Amino acid sequence: MKTFKTILFAHDFSEGSDNAFDYAFSMAKCFSAKLLLVHVINEPVDLRGFYVPHISFENLEKEIADGAEKMMDRFCSENLADFPNYEKLVLTGIPYEEIVNKANESAVDLIVMGTHGRKGVDHILFGSTAERVVRNATCPVMTVRLPV
Ligand code: AMP
Repeated sequence: MKTFKTILFAHDFSEGSDNAFDYAFSMAKCFSAKLLLVHVINEPVDLRGFYVPHISFENLEKEIADGAEKMMDRFCSENLADFPNYEKLVLTGIPYEEIVNKANESAVDLIVMGTHGRKGVDHILFGSTAERVVRNATCPVMTVRLPV
């Protein structure tokens, strides 16, 4: 029988992924699986040292990383207080690549994510993370649509 020992939940702090979290969490409890929560900070275009000094980018990147860590911490303390079997990760890069690489590296059995993420310019520039994860992942992927 197939089972799920590690479930990766991809979180972009949108309504779509909040909704998908309920499924990831239910699956983790159902299969006594470890939940691996992953958030990816979109890697900015690399213009360090071109328009502005390198140091300005370093400060900005640190503030972004600190802010993302805080959001992840808050989410975990609000939602996973009674569920110790989880790990949280904030990575930087191209979201679908980081999600697929992490899933391979940690030999996860299932990826859970929303079909919709944060609205706005990100989507126009970078396309659908969900679609790319589905195309590239080597493990099963559960995509969850927001209720209509
Ligand atoms: P999208 O396809 O970009 O609209 O996003 C669909 C889903 O992909 C979201 O609901 C999240 O589950 C996941 N996702 C998108 N961007 C990220 C990100 N930066 N980090 C982690 N997960 C993400």
